[in-house]
Amino acid sequence: MNGVMREKKIIVAIDGYSSTGKSTMAKWLAREVGYGYVDTGAMYRAVALFALDNGLIDGDTVNEAELVRRLPEISICFRPSPDGRNEVWLNGRNVETEIRSMRVSDKVSLVAAITPVRRDMVRQQQAMGKEKGIVMDGRDIGTMVFPQAEMKVFVTATAQVRARRRYDELRAKGDTDVTFDEVLNNVIERDRIDTTRQEGPLRQADDAIVLDNSNLTIDEQNECLLAWFKKIVDQCQ
Ligand code: C5P
Repeated sequence: MNGVMREKKIIVAIDGYSSTGKSTMAKWLAREVGYGYVDTGAMYRAVALFALDNGLIDGDTVNEAELVRRLPEISICFRPSPDGRNEVWLNGRNVETEIRSMRVSDKVSLVAAITPVRRDMVRQQQAMGKEKGIVMDGRDIGTMVFPQAEMKVFVTATAQVRARRRYDELRAKGDTDVTFDEVLNNVIERDRIDTTRQEGPLRQADDAIVLDNSNLTIDEQNECLLAWFKKIVDQCQ
């Protein structure tokens, strides 16, 4: 990809439903073409963790006013781990593992539906991508964060397939308490909240390429992604 790296840099926006493997493909593409990578879901997860740790969530009710008042106290950044992975830090603490737990997954969409939270995250994400040469994944990257992104991909797969992947991932990490139905319900509920919220709902941008990976291997998916990337970069010269 050396040729591509010397060419004009673009923004790659990868959006889609929960557990479609967006992060895996976004990370792979970023590494392959020498771009930066931002996992915006991790940022919303870190805000949800802050809210949980500070007693700002009771059942399914978020103390919105207090969370919004305390937003300036929340500092989120990405730092490389010794083995080169980008990890999320919240107020000086590495929270990479904690933010992936079901405790956080259960509440994150509620927190991500709060308009001032979204505006704050979107502002930070726009700053991270202003030099281009970035792959960003989330729900609203192609529609709200970078509506002018040169490459937009919308990833989808059936809820069953997505829940199976997430369940296998959690089990592999040693989370043996969780059941498949809990994971499936979480995937369906997050889709519902993400697609129906007022600010930045999950929807396919009109100019996005749709990638349904229900029946694709990771290699096949990566091959499609890289071919699209090369074609778009060529067209942008
Ligand atoms: O991508 P991931 O599943 O880790 O994202 C966690 C949650 O964060 C999503 O279910 C969604 O509610 C929220 N999110 C969002 N906008 C983004 C990225 C994630 O609302 N750009």
